[in-house]
Amino acid sequence: MKTCVIPLSDEAATLELGAQLARACRSAAVIYLYGDLGAGKTTFSRGFLQALGHQGNVKSPTYTLVEPYTLGERSLYHFDLYRLADPEELEFMGIRDYFTGDAICLVEWPQQGAGVLPPPDLALTLRYVGEAREAELMAQSPLGQTWIEQIDQGRDQA
Ligand code: ADP
Ligand code: MG
Repeated sequence: MKTCVIPLSDEAATLELGAQLARACRSAAVIYLYGDLGAGKTTFSRGFLQALGHQGNVKSPTYTLVEPYTLGERSLYHFDLYRLADPEELEFMGIRDYFTGDAICLVEWPQQGAGVLPPPDLALTLRYVGEAREAELMAQSPLGQTWIEQIDQGRDQA
């Protein structure tokens, strides 16, 4: 499966990567967001949400675990599983209902939900590079593969 690494020199670059993926996502999508605290997972999610028309705040749902958004016709669920004690808690939350239809699911700390979360289309890892960041994108489905191809093409043209 396809992978690519994208340098992110500042916060604006992280927001723009989120926006690029949002524009590539035309149907249901599951994106796992890995990376240490402060690596930029929520920043990426904010760029993604804003590109789909969201105008308010975007905070990581650290205590509620999930924040739902309705964006025009589309549903997006932003998860932050950092404080999830046990993946089984996701079953009690009714996790299946979130991963149906054509909802987009962005999941911070997906390793906390291992075994219960559905598999992703794309796994994105954010890493510190000095003060800046980089993102490694790994396609996990044919759909995720097409997103990486679109982003690669956009970068070739830039
Ligand atoms: P996480 O959700 O991974 O814990 P956040 O997105 O909440 O991280 O916080 C990331 C922090 O790093 C924010 O202060 C943001 O402004 C900053 N940041 C995001 N992307 C970059 C980047 N590419 N370079 C430098 N700083 C960044
Ligand atoms: Mg976060």
